[in-house]
Amino acid sequence: MRIGIGYDVHRLVEDRLLILGGVTIPFALGLLGHSDADVLTHAITDAMLGALALGDLGKHFPDSDPAYKNISSLKLLAHTAQLCRQKGYKVANIDAVIIAEQPKLAPYIMQMRQNIAQAVGVAVDCIGIKATTTEGLGFCGTGQGMAAKAVALLTTTKA
Ligand code: MG
Repeated sequence: MRIGIGYDVHRLVEDRLLILGGVTIPFALGLLGHSDADVLTHAITDAMLGALALGDLGKHFPDSDPAYKNISSLKLLAHTAQLCRQKGYKVANIDAVIIAEQPKLAPYIMQMRQNIAQAVGVAVDCIGIKATTTEGLGFCGTGQGMAAKAVALLTTTKA
């Protein structure tokens, strides 16, 4: 078994969609980034890459590459899952937390879990996603940005 951790932050700005776990969420602000800036999916992808010591998202999908401009991060995640399979590993489970003061994310969590599960190629009950505020403290609490943390456990596909 191999375990990995991922952490990501994006700034909240006007005139961008808010996309978390591949779900477009109605909100006045969105996350700024080269891709769709899906902070949750980025943390999960980094956790999977980290589990196999393969570096990070920026190494595999550089933000200097126009091919990744506004790309759905679910595609990057699916590509990473494929890479893990090529290395002889599959995801046992993933757990993640989104850190955001607003909006309320509970209505969207199940759809996020389904999107992530589909991209990774596992059952939805292998994907845990939670959301928390920081009680108004720090850059997440003041609404300057959002953060996400994730862990991924991978198991070998070899006997
Ligand atoms: Mg990111």
